[in-house]
Amino acid sequence: MESNAKHSAITVAMARRQKTGSYALILRSRHWGRLQIGKLGLLTLRPGYYIYVGSAFGPGGIPARTAHHQRVQACPHWHIDYLRRQTELLAVWYSFDTVKREHRWADVLAGEESCRLAMPRFGASDCHCPGHLFYSVHAPQITDFERRLRRMDREHPLLYLAICNTADAGLPGKKRRRRRPASALSQAA
Ligand SMILES: [Zn+2]
Repeated sequence: MESNAKHSAITVAMARRQKTGSYALILRSRHWGRLQIGKLGLLTLRPGYYIYVGSAFGPGGIPARTAHHQRVQACPHWHIDYLRRQTELLAVWYSFDTVKREHRWADVLAGEESCRLAMPRFGASDCHCPGHLFYSVHAPQITDFERRLRRMDREHPLLYLAICNTADAGLPGKKRRRRRPASALSQAA
């Protein structure tokens, strides 16, 4: 157990240096709509919260990927880029790691009563998950999610929370910059 903990600490330290890890975007939609997601098909957009899981193992790791998701992309590349154009990015949950855990995260969200798969195959073109995008009527809680992750894997690295500015959420006519505390979301672990 002790050697496991030591190994885990070294792994997290390495991942921190390289800034690699897994993340979940917490997005909010305020309206209904129909949204074309590239070649995947039409998504029925509902008022509520969307949770998208991914991992960042390329150059720049989590910070670079988070910066990408904070901007609305003129030329969408990933499925999430299409959804991002119609939603606000409220927060990012992330952990530093040398192991990809996005599929495990998707698995945990799929088992949550308050969540449901938002669209089959979304963000899951290269894996066997049913999808990497989930929908919830209520604001998802990082503490609940972390508890479930740790129940499955006691060595799971800590989760962190980044609150995002919602000013550039891509909503028409929204020019004023303001910070929304997203009070329904929990504090950083
Ligand atoms: Zn997957």
